[in-house]
Amino acid sequence: MPSATPPSTDPAVTVTATVVEHHRLRHDLAVIRLECTESMVPFHAGQYVDVTVPQRPDLPRRLSPALPPSMDGKLEFHVRTVPGGWVSGAIVADTRPGDEWAISAPRGGDLHIDDSGRIAIMIAGGTGLAPLRSLILDVARRDNPPRAFLFVGGRTPRDLYAADMLSLLDEALPWLTVVPVVEYVENPDVPDPWHQRILTRIGDIGPDVDDLIEGSLDEVVSSYGAFGDHQVLVCGPAPMVTATVQRLVDSGTPIENIRYDPY
Ligand SMILES: Cc1cc2nc3c(=O)[nH]c(=O)nc-3n(C[C@H](O)[C@H](O)[C@H](O)COP(=O)(O)OP(=O)(O)OC[C@H]3O[C@@H](n4cnc5c(N)ncnc54)[C@H](O)[C@@H]3O)c2cc1C
Repeated sequence: MPSATPPSTDPAVTVTATVVEHHRLRHDLAVIRLECTESMVPFHAGQYVDVTVPQRPDLPRRLSPALPPSMDGKLEFHVRTVPGGWVSGAIVADTRPGDEWAISAPRGGDLHIDDSGRIAIMIAGGTGLAPLRSLILDVARRDNPPRAFLFVGGRTPRDLYAADMLSLLDEALPWLTVVPVVEYVENPDVPDPWHQRILTRIGDIGPDVDDLIEGSLDEVVSSYGAFGDHQVLVCGPAPMVTATVQRLVDSGTPIENIRYDPY
């Protein structure tokens, strides 16, 4: 349990968190759960932090918590390997329970769901899901959450690494609809051993093929026309965010309705 130390908001001050679970879901993706031992990280859902891991102690990287702040200091991050990347590959392949991570005070703050009551259109590519999932869980604590649609995209169904968790949220939260989007409905021929392990142990917990919408995220979301009276949140790799924001604007969504965070 964290002590009563007041959390610092100085970005130079770091909090130590201990890895309690490293869940490798795909060859290129892991979910890491940690506990803060001394003090909480004082973030808001949708913000990011600088994280320094023991495998690369001189190379802090930005990561977005996938859970809203919790009183008991729990943290969760979703990390995807960037080919040739110094840090992401080490986190996905080499993280172990007991590792200590240094976590800076949070930054960013534009990615939020406001209390205007406007419908929220959330668009996540890859691990851009993490901050949007944090926001959904945070908004679920409000008395009147806004109607929300979460478009979550990947290249193939196998990329939708959190499909089982998202279908649970979709069932549990009457105001939320999750829309899985893939560029190709077939998984690649080359098996992913980490995905294969899940299929063998638990079975296929991916999205139902009939629920999948085929296309790129930018094509699919802009096909609904202008989001003139909505709040639109876009998060994920920079090329996906840029393409999506551009298509939204081209199809009539006012830029001031869009909040976005490219990786
Ligand atoms: C606000 C913010 C929040 C982020 N949150 C997350 C998160 O929750 N989960 C997560 O997995 N990542 C997140 N990232 C990305 C993360 O900070 C790192 O940039 C990423 O993990 C790559 O680090 P690396 O050290 O492995 O690659 P580097 O060694 O820094 O880069 C290696 C090569 O890959 C290229 N590259 C770097 N990043 C990317 C990228 N995202 N896509 C394609 N090529 C890239 C570089 O240009 C370089 O050529 C976030 C980034 C930002 C800005």
